[in-house]
Amino acid sequence: MSGSIATTDVHVLGAGIAGLTAAVALRRAGREVTVLERAPALAEVGAGIQIAPNGARILDALDITVDHVVSEAIHLIDGPTGRSLIRMRPPGDFRMCHRADLIAALRDAAIGAGADLRLDATVERITPDSIVLGSERVPRERLIGSDGARGAARAFVAPKYEGRFTGQVAWRAMVPAPPDWPREAQIHVGPGRHLVVYPLRGGTVLNLVGVEERTEWAAEDWSQEDDPANLRTAFAGYSDGIRSLLAAVDSVHLWGLMDHGVTEAWTRDGVTLIGDAAHPTLPFLAQGANLALEDAFLIARHLDDPAAYEALRRPRVTRALAAAADNARNYHLRGARARAAHVALRMAARVAPDAMAARYRWLYEYDATAG
Ligand SMILES: Cc1cc2nc3c(=O)[nH]c(=O)nc-3n(C[C@H](O)[C@H](O)[C@H](O)COP(=O)(O)OP(=O)(O)OC[C@H]3O[C@@H](n4cnc5c(N)ncnc54)[C@H](O)[C@@H]3O)c2cc1C
Repeated sequence: MSGSIATTDVHVLGAGIAGLTAAVALRRAGREVTVLERAPALAEVGAGIQIAPNGARILDALDITVDHVVSEAIHLIDGPTGRSLIRMRPPGDFRMCHRADLIAALRDAAIGAGADLRLDATVERITPDSIVLGSERVPRERLIGSDGARGAARAFVAPKYEGRFTGQVAWRAMVPAPPDWPREAQIHVGPGRHLVVYPLRGGTVLNLVGVEERTEWAAEDWSQEDDPANLRTAFAGYSDGIRSLLAAVDSVHLWGLMDHGVTEAWTRDGVTLIGDAAHPTLPFLAQGANLALEDAFLIARHLDDPAAYEALRRPRVTRALAAAADNARNYHLRGARARAAHVALRMAARVAPDAMAARYRWLYEYDATAG
């Protein structure tokens, strides 16, 4: 990293989805912004992201376009038999995109708006009036902490937090899409595990997220490469269609899913947390990135009143995190409870297929850009 980073209104720590979006929104609000990111390049990270209507509204308000596939349905399928349980129209505009495409669009928008993006800038520590990067100590005033669940900002604002292993791991992989694969998000549910499958990039690739219950998570790393054979073994009891998709996986990452809860404090001495730093979100409702987009937009509006920002955001993200945790339980039912739930879903599919999706109206219809 080179050049002075002292003369700026706002430092943004971390160039993920939250940080880059905040940089765009802050620049549009007339602030001088410097973004500090430890990675030497914003590299291609192979994973899909579903942008729900509440997140799409933020991208639209900031004029950011990202290559995506429009989702035509959310489709629950019984994993072991491959039998359809319920296929619901998505409640609004769902966009299935590659995280790297989203990050590239946000980076271009942030730089285009005049943000100063510093790569290879690892923040070791934040103090009440400075940012410590190696031997350099940079004076600071306002700082947006968007450096994720284990970042320096959270360590400064909420030093006491500890994550808890949820008893679940998630694999992420991509495979070429078979011809005519439906443009829908499929959730293949089963005892103790589920698999999410959806197309990206013009429908040419499928994003796979497989979740399995485990008693232990021994790895030091938050995320690591894994042998695709482990993913195949976890879903060996699933339908032929799924097993043939998994046969094509040649590289996979494994995450231990940690529950951190919503951070108890979000602001200290001019540092305000947003995105995963404030509320690391389990992936069972596909909302982590969407909540990060909302946070980023709103912190730019409430930069000078972080208490108002927190009062606005805390109830909503707490509710979203609870809804995600409920989904994990519902997807992994076993035995008689699973059979009863599947009968209910198939009946609902006949009489009111969209009623289930309507349960999340409060989540998807929310417009952070209004007002
Ligand atoms: C398996 C899985 C599937 C998911 N699927 C979805 C989905 O479909 N839809 C959805 O909305 N969400 C999804 N999520 C959640 C989503 O990925 C996160 O909630 C979202 O990326 C959070 O963004 P962020 O910008 O807050 O944090 P991050 O993406 O973690 O970004 C933090 C940035 O800060 C940088 N950084 C960290 N420490 C430092 C430091 N000390 N100095 C400088 N820079 C630093 C990092 O390098 C990184 O660039 C999923 C998550 C998982 C695990």
